[in-house]
Amino acid sequence: MKKIVIVGGGAGGLELATLLGKKLGKSKKAKITLVDKNTNHLWKPLLHEIATGTLNDELDHVNYFAQGQNNSFSFQQGQLSNINRNDKTITLNNVVDSKNQVIFPETTVSYDVLVMAIGSTSNDFGTPGVKEHCTFLDDQESAKRFRKSILSTFFRFSSGLEDKQKLNIAIVGAGATGVELTTELFSMVKTLGSYGFEKLDPSLLNITLIEATDRILPALPKSASKNIQAKLEEFGATVLTKTKIVKADENNFYPEGQDPIPADIMMWTAGVKAPDFLKDIAELETNRANQLVVKPTLQTTRDDAIFAIGDCACSAKPEGGFTPATAQAAHQMATICAKNIIAIVKDKKLKSFAYNNKGTIISLAHTAQGVVTTIGKNQMGVKGWLASCIYKMLYRFHQVALFGIFKTFRLVRANKVYRSIRTSVNMD
Ligand SMILES: Cc1cc2nc3c(=O)[nH]c(=O)nc-3n(C[C@H](O)[C@H](O)[C@H](O)COP(=O)(O)OP(=O)(O)OC[C@H]3O[C@@H](n4cnc5c(N)ncnc54)[C@H](O)[C@@H]3O)c2cc1C
Repeated sequence: MKKIVIVGGGAGGLELATLLGKKLGKSKKAKITLVDKNTNHLWKPLLHEIATGTLNDELDHVNYFAQGQNNSFSFQQGQLSNINRNDKTITLNNVVDSKNQVIFPETTVSYDVLVMAIGSTSNDFGTPGVKEHCTFLDDQESAKRFRKSILSTFFRFSSGLEDKQKLNIAIVGAGATGVELTTELFSMVKTLGSYGFEKLDPSLLNITLIEATDRILPALPKSASKNIQAKLEEFGATVLTKTKIVKADENNFYPEGQDPIPADIMMWTAGVKAPDFLKDIAELETNRANQLVVKPTLQTTRDDAIFAIGDCACSAKPEGGFTPATAQAAHQMATICAKNIIAIVKDKKLKSFAYNNKGTIISLAHTAQGVVTTIGKNQMGVKGWLASCIYKMLYRFHQVALFGIFKTFRLVRANKVYRSIRTSVNMD
């Protein structure tokens, strides 16, 4: 029986493990193992909502053991540190508990087919001071830490312990994450004010969103970028374009050729790269962002037994350019990768992956805006209620891929009930 090992249970890897478990694991045609450094999954595009408390993370967690048991794959906790292509094994570092006690020692896992789906981390592009002084939204832990810290800051302002009139927040990178975070922060402070916390009002926030290129959200058409910038300014944010940050220290960002931008809270959302240790892993081909270069079949260029999907894969588009690092792409790659692994098990021909851009929607607190792809790859602008629905659908599709349509429907209902009895901002 072939051993299929998937490393990384994120937007792409968990969908893949679920699909393969159902198609191959259940009928014992292959043994499917999912490996992740954590024990539960949270869909990464929700991180800015966790960071600002809009979402209660407990309700959207997926436990890997339970998901594996329900879908015929096994789960092994561990952080991949190396791949040995000669004896077809991967090395997992030891796992420690919150007291730093080893609970699972370093181990090796053997594979016939390996899928790398370990996602990405923030890219500081080597800018001095950024790693030391900025907050990144890379995982659940960093999002929760940020929420706790900003809540304390807001409460200190409310109780008069801060003598400043304004809280200066600077966010570098006006892609989807930077823009969505900005609007969620305004919404968060407004909601806290509505609970009776004095002085907590959007006017407390002085948020500067900084972008190196000539416009925000370069993935969107110019008109949509312009509209969304106007919306951000309506919220009260200052948007600086053509502003390249070359250094950061404890309380300032330094733009090239301009005065420093002071900030009490400094965030960096200016791009992603695959984890650094991939750069030299097992002599596989990688690009400048450490992504594993893959062929159209999603197999790595130097080893057909190793696939890569999602943010850690560099997949060239037939029409030029590369597949973007998005949840939408990770989902599409997981679908083709599953088909190709089934083809390997059944000794059939592999399919080629072609990214199908279905559009980009940006959530703007209680509304949304963006574009959707229509017939003939034309793009149509959407905003308001319709855009919000489409934005939410992306997450619902992910849930359907994991749980099926009926359970997803029940989860949506459960979420509604839960939301009706809790505060709209998670204050834990
Ligand atoms: C705030 C935010 C908002 C976003 N909004 C959108 C959006 O609106 N639309 C959209 O399409 N995309 C969005 N994205 C991008 C999207 O989240 C990613 O493109 C997507 O999650 C990538 O999926 P993945 O499976 O490649 O990796 P991930 O979902 O990041 O999963 C990687 C998994 O690998 C595990 N892992 C990492 N390293 C190791 C290791 N060494 N060993 C074992 N396990 C490991 C991690 O624990 C994780 O479970 C957003 C991202 C962020 C941060």
